[in-house]
Amino acid sequence: MKPFELHTPQSVEQAIQYLENANSLIKPMSGGTALMLMMKSGVYEPEALVSLSKVPSLHGISLDSNQNLQIQALTTLSEIEHSPIVKEYFLVINQSMKKLANVRVRNVACIGGALAHGDPHMDMPPLMTALGATVHIRSASGARSLSIENFYLGYYTTLLKEDEIIESITVPSIKNRYCLYLKCTTRSADDWPTLGVAVNLGLTNNHFDSSKVVLSAVVQTPTRLFEVEKLLDGKTPSESLFIEAGEIAANQVDPEDDARGSAVYKKQLIKVYVRRAIQNSMQGKVQS
Ligand SMILES: Cc1cc2nc3c(=O)[nH]c(=O)nc-3n(C[C@H](O)[C@H](O)[C@H](O)COP(=O)(O)OP(=O)(O)OC[C@H]3O[C@@H](n4cnc5c(N)ncnc54)[C@H](O)[C@@H]3O)c2cc1C
Repeated sequence: MKPFELHTPQSVEQAIQYLENANSLIKPMSGGTALMLMMKSGVYEPEALVSLSKVPSLHGISLDSNQNLQIQALTTLSEIEHSPIVKEYFLVINQSMKKLANVRVRNVACIGGALAHGDPHMDMPPLMTALGATVHIRSASGARSLSIENFYLGYYTTLLKEDEIIESITVPSIKNRYCLYLKCTTRSADDWPTLGVAVNLGLTNNHFDSSKVVLSAVVQTPTRLFEVEKLLDGKTPSESLFIEAGEIAANQVDPEDDARGSAVYKKQLIKVYVRRAIQNSMQGKVQS
């Protein structure tokens, strides 16, 4: 690995100073689980890294009086998984962590890195899109907040600028909603997903409302399936509706052949997993 400088700021202000006028050769680092792999393989050869791990204000999880969740960017995936707040109010996040990589990765990787990395084969971006999360971003020129739904532009590409860091994310309350994230892997259960589906469904008087259905991995960015959402809203849950949702989803997306499977195989996965995600979310408990 090529030598590089490592900065360890103690505050957000110091961190964004290091990144002021940053170019592609200087990057913020959270857990380093993705960055180190890219550096060891020579894909990325930075001049400097700005490690955010020693910034106290970037750690922690809290809930406001409306049950909205705030997660600071340097909170590890394990801390999120084991948080009593997350278990009680956002069980879907807790459950999704169990099959995200392995415990060694989750002990080190942080939510900021998991969202900023922009690899299409990741579990948090589709789930956070379905949950309607907002990312809060800082740089020397100020602060801004973006809906995660609009954050991903393409393969490893997000709206983040080189001088910006993710400070935290907010996830709105999912009280009384049915939420589930399902992934399909073609190797071990905790491998990178070949396909991911996240659903966040409301049910009023036994009719779906404000449905969100998000597909990932078979597409370059987490993608809301608007046609499926339109189909569900206003309808009563039924086996035939779930089947139709899967078929519409498969028609809405054009996956590509790759090492994880052919386009034909992935279309079949979409059909089955979208149906299953909607159906299984209804069998789970509504979030209290
Ligand atoms: C063996 C293995 C298996 C894995 N399996 C899965 C899996 O099944 N599902 C899955 O979702 N992921 C999986 N991953 C990916 C893992 O989730 C990512 O490596 C991890 O989420 C990145 O987080 P990090 O904190 O280590 O980020 P880092 O490696 O520190 O950073 C990643 C990128 O994000 C940028 N960045 C980091 N923090 C910030 C910030 N606060 N603000 C702005 N930019 C930032 C960095 O500059 C870098 O470009 C796996 C990884 C490994 C090594």
